[in-house]
Amino acid sequence: MDILIIDDDAVDRMSAIRTLRKSELALDRIDQSDTAAEGIRLASEHNYDVILLDYQIPPSNGIEILREIRGGNDYSTAIVMLSHSNDERLALACVEAGAQDFIMKSEVTSSRLKRAILISQERHSLEQEVRSSHDQLRYIAERDSLTGLRNRYFFDETLRDAVTRNSRTGEQLVLLLLDLDNFKKVNDVLGHQAGDRLLQEIARRLEQPIRESDKLCRLGGDEFAILVYDLPQLEHVRLLVTRIFKSLEKPLIIHGQTVEVTVSIGVATYPLCATDATGLMKCADVAMYRAKELGRNRVQYYSVDFHEKMVSRMQLEFDLKQAIKGDQLTLFFQPQLDTHSEQLVGVEALIRWQHHTLGMIQPDEFIPIAEESDLIIDIGRWVIEAACRQFSQWVETAQGTHICFSIAVNLSARQLKDHALSEFLQRCLAQHNIPADLVELELTESHLENSLSAVEMLNSLSATGVRLSLDDFGTGYSSLSHLSQFPFSILKIDKSFVQSGDDKQQRTLLKAICAFAHSLGYETVAEGIETEEQKQLCQSLNVNRLQGYLFSQPISAESFENNWLQSVV
Ligand code: C2E
Ligand code: CA
Ligand code: CA
Repeated sequence: MDILIIDDDAVDRMSAIRTLRKSELALDRIDQSDTAAEGIRLASEHNYDVILLDYQIPPSNGIEILREIRGGNDYSTAIVMLSHSNDERLALACVEAGAQDFIMKSEVTSSRLKRAILISQERHSLEQEVRSSHDQLRYIAERDSLTGLRNRYFFDETLRDAVTRNSRTGEQLVLLLLDLDNFKKVNDVLGHQAGDRLLQEIARRLEQPIRESDKLCRLGGDEFAILVYDLPQLEHVRLLVTRIFKSLEKPLIIHGQTVEVTVSIGVATYPLCATDATGLMKCADVAMYRAKELGRNRVQYYSVDFHEKMVSRMQLEFDLKQAIKGDQLTLFFQPQLDTHSEQLVGVEALIRWQHHTLGMIQPDEFIPIAEESDLIIDIGRWVIEAACRQFSQWVETAQGTHICFSIAVNLSARQLKDHALSEFLQRCLAQHNIPADLVELELTESHLENSLSAVEMLNSLSATGVRLSLDDFGTGYSSLSHLSQFPFSILKIDKSFVQSGDDKQQRTLLKAICAFAHSLGYETVAEGIETEEQKQLCQSLNVNRLQGYLFSQPISAESFENNWLQSVV
């Protein structure tokens, strides 16, 4: 038996040790400590069978020490409190705080101590049994025995707690109700055992798309629920739903039979749709039935606005996939002029989507959708290819004249994950016979990650000979040291600085930005020039290039040829 004595009184410690030795207990080890802190440390480092703990160890009191030991030590040690006082309330408080026994120091004899220790151990092991069966009971009570998922009881409790908590924090709570579409048929045709196997398999599949913090429960029968906490944006619900449908796409093999399972999903969010747990549940239920009515294998969002928004985004994503394959994407071009000569020195390619029913869609509307999925990778490559093809034609047209201009293409930060991008770029340049130094890649400052892989990717793009330009500069708060890690040679000053009008502070900022950029050898481009004054301001600050509606809006390739190329060729 290993025993620890925590007591600040050396005489009391010695007396306890003497009594222990006389007690005929099988003692292997007796450690002692005269301070609370050391006692707590020893108790956390070694698994003692029993701790004898003095109630009075100034400045702490025994109950505080007791709680601390209990907190860190997982209930594996029996604790006997020793005190000079025979206050019964104190004894009770100690037992409540986790001590197994309480004896007065004046009453300590070998036999009393031995009995206290043995009884404490016994009591302690009983307590542990109760505790572990309580945990087991809780596990059984909260789990669905067929699938191992959390059950209806857990779900009801959790939903209630979550609503209460979120009403305090103001965070969103999203409830997805899922109901299998053809489960009854499986049960009828293949039998109940197959039905059970199917539910188990579905449970495993549904576990894949969710995050650890999401709660997946089986409510009963073929009905499941997913509770999603603290979503950064409602947008993510759509992604989750897509992933759920995807996880069920592959047919299941049950008892040698191929079974295809689809699911109808109803989604409701708190506090948008309902103000309490019951209401939220009702909304999700209504939405789920609506999904069934509309032909199953689909999702329905409760509020009309929410539903329409989600569906139109989903439709747009679907259409966008077609758009890449078809020829609905086009590039517009916006000229850039030399600040002083006002001659054409560059052009920025800006994507447009000619949707078959919705007409022209601006990039601000569909690039974010493309960025959320991997569509941006294909779109990004399409842009590079199309821009190179177009540019090579213009270079040919301009041959023999003295004009020389560059082309700028926008890249999404997400495209830096496209590891073969620099090879792709190199192939495009070679295929269209374009000098690399006439091509610029623009990356938005605010989306740039300061990760090693992003820096490596930018270095490898820069190694192809193209120039890198930091777009919307000034809006992303990049520190100067941060900036020097990236191989940018051009800073594209955000339009807000140029367009601030009479705001004196913004003007001062613009001046500072220009001075800073030039002193570090960056070339500068000012975008969003709409007025003569803005142009003059940039001229006075020696910005290198200007771009904006004052000179031209983004225009089609044909207009660009007619209005800009012909004039210089
Ligand atoms: P950006 O790269 O900052 O592009 C400049 C935006 O400012 C363009 O909008 C342009 O039409 C607009 N603009 C130009 N001059 C003026 C002006 O004088 N006044 C005002 N108010 N605006 C002006 P656009 O074409 O709608 O593009 C919006 C954003 O979409 C772009 O911002 C860029 O971030 C993104 N984008 C466009 N094309 C592509 C692309 O091919 N790939 C990627 N990843 N993003 C693109
Ligand atoms: Ca740009
Ligand atoms: Ca910009």
